[in-house]
Amino acid sequence: MECPGEQSTMAPEELKEAQATPSLAAAPDINSAAALRAQYAIETPKLSRRRHKKLTRAEVEEEPLVDTTTTLPLHSKKTERLQKRQTKKSLRIASKSTDMSLLDLPSEILTEVLGWLHVSDIFRLTRVSHSMRDFITENEKLIAKDVIRSRYWILYRCFPLPVPFKSVPEEFHTGLLSEKRQELMNIHRKSYHQHIEMVDPYSVCTCMTCVFAWNNLCLLVDLHHWQTNLANREPIPMIPRGTNPQWNQDLLKRNADVVRLAMSRPLYYAAILEKHLATTTGTILRFSKWKKQGATSSKPRLYHMTDWDVARGTDAYLDRSGPPSYDFPFHRDNYYSVEAYLPNRKFGADGKWYYYALPPTPHERDLEWVRSTTQSTVSPEERAKKALANLKDHNIRWSQYMERKQNI
Ligand SMILES: [Zn+2]
Repeated sequence: MECPGEQSTMAPEELKEAQATPSLAAAPDINSAAALRAQYAIETPKLSRRRHKKLTRAEVEEEPLVDTTTTLPLHSKKTERLQKRQTKKSLRIASKSTDMSLLDLPSEILTEVLGWLHVSDIFRLTRVSHSMRDFITENEKLIAKDVIRSRYWILYRCFPLPVPFKSVPEEFHTGLLSEKRQELMNIHRKSYHQHIEMVDPYSVCTCMTCVFAWNNLCLLVDLHHWQTNLANREPIPMIPRGTNPQWNQDLLKRNADVVRLAMSRPLYYAAILEKHLATTTGTILRFSKWKKQGATSSKPRLYHMTDWDVARGTDAYLDRSGPPSYDFPFHRDNYYSVEAYLPNRKFGADGKWYYYALPPTPHERDLEWVRSTTQSTVSPEERAKKALANLKDHNIRWSQYMERKQNI
């Protein structure tokens, strides 16, 4: 564009053409521009002053706040699924936080609780879980002590455990394993071989107290084994004199294994006492149902046993007055007439039972007797020779025993 004061450098012909054709840069018509503006202009409404006015704090506080929001109803399959899942999750968390097992109890309380159970129930509990089995195994001594005190206190005093040979002081080993004493033990071998396995002098103390304790416990296991026959009036198989069939050897070994286990595991000892209580209670009940020919009433129950005593499951009723058991059942034939075998006690004139086989006094007294008899009959030189021979023999037999044990 040219400035208004400058002269045009265009030729006269070009200037005419330029004036004849309208140019975009030429000044628009005023009327037509106003019309176009009116046609296409966007009218913006004037904002009210009130909208832009800021409310003061006092005005804000004066206006009450009204909550006009409402909860939207959720009705769909997806929301229902989510709600169900959430409910299950919260229930699961709540149940986990409130559930308690026996093992959550303090160990003292749990031991006390287990001490009131039957031994068979405790053995069932060991099969519930590894944790429960470990707890019972670790606290076996305490639990068995409580069980025996609460349920089998009478039987515990009638049937003490024999002492393991390894627990006997070495000074008594020579006397216990002497040839003369072992010859005496052969008498017992011949007498009891049919229903009791003879005690092994290298695993169990062979003082008289321990030998009787061993024989009594083996007898209890064997007697319990034949209770089904006795209850059903089925005869016990008799063994001809001088023979010992394989089934009897297996049975005696199994009974002896139970007693050996009881010597090291207190719960197994309590289990033997539990079985004998069942044997005694069952036999008294069985005898009380039988009537003699011509009798109007049945035989009264021994030890005044009541149904409540049976249901209670303890040996407390055996503390009442009753017959003592002085005779050992030397043969299975005696099982038919044994109603309650409770040795090692006598009924005093004052109406109380006195127990005379409680350890450790009788065992220690017998050991002293063994040593005194050994010393009085053998000179020091002979005793030394025999002790050496016994020691060699003992070592040989001990190695043989260990080999057998490893083979097992
Ligand atoms: Zn002994």
